[in-house]
Amino acid sequence: MRDKTVDVVVIGSGMGGGTAMYHLASTGASVLVLERGDFLPTEDQNWSPEANFSEQRYKNAENWKTPSGQSFKPGVHYYVGGNTKVFGAALPRFRTEDFQQIEHFDGVSPAWPIIYQDLEPYYTKAEQIYRVHGLRHEDPTDPARTSDFPFPPVSHEPVIEQLADSLQKQGLTPFHIPLGVDLTTDGGCIRCATCDGYPCKVKAKSDAEVCAVIPALRSPNVELWTNAYARTLTLDSRGKQIESVEGSVNGEMFSIKARHVVLACGAVNSAALLLRSSSQRFPEGLANNHDLVGRHYMVHNNSALLAVNPFQKNSTTFQKTLAVNDFYHATSEHNYPLGNLQLLGKLNKGTLSAARPRAPKQMLSWIADHSVEWWVMSEDLPDPDNRIRVTSDGSIQVDWTPNNLKAHKQLLKETRRMMRKAGYPIILSETLGIATNSHQCGTLRMGTNETNSVVDQYGKIHSVSNGYVVDSSVFPSSAACNPALTIAALALRSMEHLSRSW
Ligand SMILES: Cc1cc2nc3c(=O)[nH]c(=O)nc-3n(C[C@H](O)[C@H](O)[C@H](O)COP(=O)(O)OP(=O)(O)OC[C@H]3O[C@@H](n4cnc5c(N)ncnc54)[C@H](O)[C@@H]3O)c2cc1C
Repeated sequence: MRDKTVDVVVIGSGMGGGTAMYHLASTGASVLVLERGDFLPTEDQNWSPEANFSEQRYKNAENWKTPSGQSFKPGVHYYVGGNTKVFGAALPRFRTEDFQQIEHFDGVSPAWPIIYQDLEPYYTKAEQIYRVHGLRHEDPTDPARTSDFPFPPVSHEPVIEQLADSLQKQGLTPFHIPLGVDLTTDGGCIRCATCDGYPCKVKAKSDAEVCAVIPALRSPNVELWTNAYARTLTLDSRGKQIESVEGSVNGEMFSIKARHVVLACGAVNSAALLLRSSSQRFPEGLANNHDLVGRHYMVHNNSALLAVNPFQKNSTTFQKTLAVNDFYHATSEHNYPLGNLQLLGKLNKGTLSAARPRAPKQMLSWIADHSVEWWVMSEDLPDPDNRIRVTSDGSIQVDWTPNNLKAHKQLLKETRRMMRKAGYPIILSETLGIATNSHQCGTLRMGTNETNSVVDQYGKIHSVSNGYVVDSSVFPSSAACNPALTIAALALRSMEHLSRSW
């Protein structure tokens, strides 16, 4: 049995945990980070479409289940850096309105207990840590900023520049996606075609390992255990404080005592950890006396859309540079918000063939040569019946019925119309299902009290004195923006709150 006592134990080293660790390194507190995965290896397969998409080499999570018992492989990556190891590095801030109550087709996206201005300074800091490139004032929905983006925008290649012009002529306002890559003078980014969805072999993508975990480990007060799985949390005799984290590291059991415990396992696994941690005071799982742990699971409604122009080759290598937010808010044409459009990293024969293994390779190759690909993303709403459970055999079960689909269908229709007008007559699209949980959030929602939420506005668990949550579990709503920068900003705010209390 490995025992240890520290000031703070952080569980998980992804966007939330890595950023928390980055902040805590400067406080001098003794910090231990438990990460169930290992470092993702640097190897040739990092950039192979076949290894990444057909063989799913880096998707190493256990299978999860649906309520009917069907098992599926979630799009989840257990590594130092978590899911950011393969992310697309789109790092937008949420809109000011995303923190307020908004009416949607299927109901209400609730207000957060904080407003955008509460998070603004932490967004600024997170953009610096994660080297965000962007152009201020270009996106009309952008929230107010106290400073410019740390780096200039990532430029479009000619075909995408041409598309941006065409969209502008349609009266739209395309903008450069805020992106976390290292294009500084001595930066390593080579603008390759294997960024979005792939690990970065040259470590030039702003993932949590590169930008937060490795810098934090330079401080002598910070330690990281890899292959360290946190199974349960135990409470003190009064049931008011988390006393220890129990689990195993490389097959050996551990028990870690800490003054403060920070959960950052991702929205599904942080909820599962609390559900597994039952006690006399919390028979249904830690902090679950109001049956809220694991509920309100959200993931966005997502589709991939391919627009094909048979008369023009798309020579773009680094495609994920352009986005459109003209349908983000309700307009005179649409009574409700529809969502965000952003280009995907360029698909190729290998990635298309992973999605359609039976289709003729030559045809897929022709499509990829002539297509521009979009990620079409709409907000889903926090339904208490969409939830994470831990079954009697210890498996994770995801109860999920997608909602607010009308908004997504209308957004797809607008995207098709927009791309046809831009000269792309052939449009193919696919809406993604339960295994696309890359934007999972909402399962330990933030709120004002124990009856409506699991954590407070700083991510502190209401019902124990020393537990924090710093991953996407705390989101009360999903917005229709990529979540990672908001996770990082919230983690910085939470950890500043925690360290101020010392
Ligand atoms: C293909 C893909 C593309 C994406 N693109 C973007 C993008 O462009 N922009 C964006 O904003 N977001 C993107 N995302 C989503 C983004 O990566 C996640 O929102 C973000 O990483 C979530 O941060 P987190 O801290 O909540 O969880 P994670 O980053 O997933 O971190 C959780 C960590 O906890 C560890 N862990 C879990 N359980 C335990 C346990 N019991 N004990 C110990 N450790 C544990 C995991 O191994 C993991 O390292 C993408 C995701 C994927 C998969």
